[in-house]
Amino acid sequence: MITLETIKDYLKKYDGEELTFMEVCGTHTAAISQSGITEILSDKIRLVSGPGCPVCVTVASYIDKLVSLSMEENTCVATFGDMLRVRGSEKSLNDAKASGGKVILVYSPMDVIDIAKKNTQLNYVFAAVGFETTTPIYSLMLKQIIEEKIENLKLLTALKTMPKVIDWVCSVDSPINGFIAPGHVSVITGSDYFKELALKWNMPFVVSGFEAIDLLNAIYALINYKDKGEVLNLYPAYVTDKGNKAAQKQVEQYFTSCKSAWRGIGQIEDSGMQLKEEYLKYDAGSQNLIEDSKINEGCCCDKVIIGTINPTQCPLFKKVCSPETPQGACMVSTEGSCYHYYISNRKR
Ligand code: SF4
Repeated sequence: MITLETIKDYLKKYDGEELTFMEVCGTHTAAISQSGITEILSDKIRLVSGPGCPVCVTVASYIDKLVSLSMEENTCVATFGDMLRVRGSEKSLNDAKASGGKVILVYSPMDVIDIAKKNTQLNYVFAAVGFETTTPIYSLMLKQIIEEKIENLKLLTALKTMPKVIDWVCSVDSPINGFIAPGHVSVITGSDYFKELALKWNMPFVVSGFEAIDLLNAIYALINYKDKGEVLNLYPAYVTDKGNKAAQKQVEQYFTSCKSAWRGIGQIEDSGMQLKEEYLKYDAGSQNLIEDSKINEGCCCDKVIIGTINPTQCPLFKKVCSPETPQGACMVSTEGSCYHYYISNRKR
């Protein structure tokens, strides 16, 4: 069995063709940045982040809709912390709050159920963003809303799914040679979820854990399976071929696939999930939120999200853009690539 030291040595001395691998999960971006593993990789191996940070890929019109709902009489918007500071075309939810909007921070979607039950005089809208990992939680939330006949709580959804956006990234003349497939998403979907993409683009997808050792193994596997359309599951303690069937069934009961808009990318068919028609009374107006706008003319989030550049190549990085003064969603979100490059002082 090959040792970790041998793998490290190989990755450090690698002198073959230049290779670019993309991680598509915000948690992997965080793990790669915090572990410092890029420092030991040969210059010929480049890691780039993909469109896996939910806040980063959410379009401005969705934030605008939340802002406008928060200003309506008797309506309160509930959200996770990262969404508070991301600006829409003009304002963020924090700005709306400062102007009298009703916005509350929650740590779990289930918290808002208790809040809505206790405050029946207000209507609540929960900002339901996320990927395949979080949609099952929103399904549970909806189940409870229906079973308990909670009439004052709706969802504004911007739910994304991975395959079509990865397909889009591969189709735009991308230099990518393989993917570190998202570990948490794979727990729900199973590793077979990426088989079609691997075959279509003839490149490896490696499902990886989040420790430095897992990531080094994943990069080593990506090099060794280069130009092979295969999926390798290196996270078998949590990921099976077919995933969590119960969670998938739960999602299928309430949600259906839809066209979705991605920040800096545009609309992609079948790249999102929306409530099924019979549950639309629980939707706060999620359809047709497709318009996007840049926060700042110099912000390159659109290029960072698809791995065309890394954050250090953005002219605003560390100059005017920092976690304290973010100029784009990728610096606001704790899953954003710019945020992690900044706090880890990552160079490459
Ligand atoms: Fe946008 Fe800031 Fe990232 Fe540049 S460093 S792409 S301005 S978020």
